[in-house]
Amino acid sequence: MHTKAVNMQKPASFIYLDNASTTKTDPLVAETMIPYLTEVYGNASSIHQPGRVAQVAVEESREKIARVLQCEVSEIIFTSGATESNNAAIAGLAEKAGPGHIITSLAEHHAVLHPLHELEKKGYSCTYLKPGPGGVISASQVEEALQPDTIFVSLMLVNNETGGITPVHEIASLCQSKNIPLHSDTVQAAGKIRWDVQQLGVDLLSLSSHKFHGPKGCGILYVKAGSPWSPFLQGGSQERNRRGGTLNVAGIAGTGKAMEILQENFDKNLKHVAQLSQKLISGLQEALPGIVHLNRHPDPALSVPHIVNCSFPLPDGKAIDGEMLLLNLDIEGICVSNGSACTSGAIEPSHVLQSLGLDSKTAKSSIRFSLSKFTTTEEIDYVLAALPPIIRRMAANA
Ligand code: PLP
Repeated sequence: MHTKAVNMQKPASFIYLDNASTTKTDPLVAETMIPYLTEVYGNASSIHQPGRVAQVAVEESREKIARVLQCEVSEIIFTSGATESNNAAIAGLAEKAGPGHIITSLAEHHAVLHPLHELEKKGYSCTYLKPGPGGVISASQVEEALQPDTIFVSLMLVNNETGGITPVHEIASLCQSKNIPLHSDTVQAAGKIRWDVQQLGVDLLSLSSHKFHGPKGCGILYVKAGSPWSPFLQGGSQERNRRGGTLNVAGIAGTGKAMEILQENFDKNLKHVAQLSQKLISGLQEALPGIVHLNRHPDPALSVPHIVNCSFPLPDGKAIDGEMLLLNLDIEGICVSNGSACTSGAIEPSHVLQSLGLDSKTAKSSIRFSLSKFTTTEEIDYVLAALPPIIRRMAANA
């Protein structure tokens, strides 16, 4: 038998291994937010006392974030999440430059790809680089794609489906030498690798609080001072006229706290996740030899350990039904996703995995485990006991 003798008692609630979709709010973050959801309800733009108290919370959070990102407080713009940050970054760069050529990759999140598709309808042209293993793009690929009219480059730091790390700092050096702005979707990099804006050298970047144990509905757009960018959301004069809309004070306070916590025990948390991730990978390879295929960069240094994406290619073009696999795991109390959660309602084969060469059936039957500092050894043991029999049963019936 491949299955190890572990405690197979069903968990009381569920095993949450979908942290790339969203993370558990850190209790300290929730605690920080509560006063701003209850007694401190003033509008941070109002000049009365409750408004000023709210404004102090916003500015304190901005300072915490600027300290972590190593940038100026004035370079931080609060948004509703990374979808907005990515849309704002792309629309603002395009608006300022006027029609021209843009470089990105096929493995980007839809929050980057869809705004770029809209720009193409307006006369901009885009090169979609084909990613290498793990969704990684190299600086030489970008160099080859550059055109005299390239107006900006947008490439993510950590891929949300495979965990692959693109050498954004190398691409930034290249872009700087050509005076071309670089935006990076760094959503999946927060707390997973050590970086800051100085080290990365990007002009704009996007973050989302709920991906690092902060609240949902709050994001960050970093815009380096002097970047050729125009504001996207028009309305009030909030955020120095760069993003209209009443500020989400509780969310912003929680985001600052979540960023701060991310720095505490960084190495310890990373080591914890790396150990569990290795245990999961070797356990799956041992239990399902020749069946499990890892969709990640072969060099562990080019992947974050938090994301383990695997598929189960079967002979003769057969495939496990991806939706049934998720349901079977859900029955066992195991929460994972296949592809990004944003498309999971529709169960579309992942565009990222397809860009890596997986056929649509295999891509559909792939699953992404994503771990966090809250994941436990017992949870991984449970998955290693529960998953292999499900895969063998489904493979036999495919
Ligand atoms: N970019 C990446 C890489 C993501 O993983 C996600 C969320 O899945 C987003 C952008 C969108 O983030 P949000 O949910 O904050 O809009």
